[in-house]
Amino acid sequence: MRWRGRGGCEHVGAGERTHRTHSGCQCGAVRYRVASKPTGTSLCHCRMCQKAGGAPFMTFADLPTEAFVVTRGALAIFKSSEIAERGFCAACGTPLTYRLLDGGHTEVTLCSFDDPNAVAPILQYGVESRVRWLAEALAAPATRIDEWLAGKKIASVGGRQHPDHDT
Ligand SMILES: [Zn+2]
Ligand SMILES: [Zn+2]
Repeated sequence: MRWRGRGGCEHVGAGERTHRTHSGCQCGAVRYRVASKPTGTSLCHCRMCQKAGGAPFMTFADLPTEAFVVTRGALAIFKSSEIAERGFCAACGTPLTYRLLDGGHTEVTLCSFDDPNAVAPILQYGVESRVRWLAEALAAPATRIDEWLAGKKIASVGGRQHPDHDT
């Protein structure tokens, strides 16, 4: 598993190495930091993750719950099953966490990290639900966003997305 230092990891104190990465939802109402290196990473294709993310799969970094520190706002919680709950931003809807009710671990969505390349998934779950078009979609004709905007003659989107750093 890669855990890149750029923009995320900080060395704190004399000889004490602490990993932190800053993260949050699309609108910035909920911000959190990760205070330790993830104990694992995964990608989940299960139908509950597909619905929760509105996407083919969700990606997670697994953390001891004490290493998941909300620094702004608060998670909204949906108890998605008898065994787990999912945290999200009530203002913009961004999925942020998955947590087993009886566990001491919190899984955070990899792409809510300010650096979405900080870690890569190394395991897949729920493969029985993997959409049949996934490989084909990733091989489809590809366009950069700047090319798409130019094609639409849109000069600027005036984005309301929170920047990829703490504010
Ligand atoms: Zn938000
Ligand atoms: Zn899942």
